[in-house]
Amino acid sequence: MATLSMDLRPHLTAAAEAELPLVLQLARSTALCTVKLFAYLAEIDRPSSRANLFYKSCAPSDVCAACPSVETGRDMFFDRPMSAMIWARLDVPIPAGRLSVWDLQASLPLQVDVWNAGVTVILWAIWKARNDLVFNAKTSMSSSVLRRVCDNLTLWRWRFKAVDWAPLDLLRSFIISRVS
Ligand SMILES: [Zn+2]
Repeated sequence: MATLSMDLRPHLTAAAEAELPLVLQLARSTALCTVKLFAYLAEIDRPSSRANLFYKSCAPSDVCAACPSVETGRDMFFDRPMSAMIWARLDVPIPAGRLSVWDLQASLPLQVDVWNAGVTVILWAIWKARNDLVFNAKTSMSSSVLRRVCDNLTLWRWRFKAVDWAPLDLLRSFIISRVS
């Protein structure tokens, strides 16, 4: 965890860094700590988007690698065509303007915490696809990103409470039905 916080620190604003001990404490409560901490950064719009890096003079431009927009967290996770397609495939409406990732509505009946875990895994997969584009010039289809989500739900299954396995499997089956 010490390594994780050191890795993240250069990407944080002073305000976020001040909150870091609390966030790390929250994250430590679960084995999915890296992904949960990442979701927290996404939620407060402090992922290492080009807009944030450019603002801190750490990137030559703030323009997105995937579309002509400035790469904000919102553009990265919801507005760029591939990301928009992911949420559309899952029938999750994305409200205009400022949004909380925890307010996204599931299109199937799931407990809130299971759906939120699913949202976190989806955001994580979008982030990995974005990095593949930026660092490896590799374009991902929404279907391959959603398959990665399903793989991660399987890989991380044991990290969830056993009582959540059935609803997680339901979510996984739903996602598979939307990519095939
Ligand atoms: Zn974009």
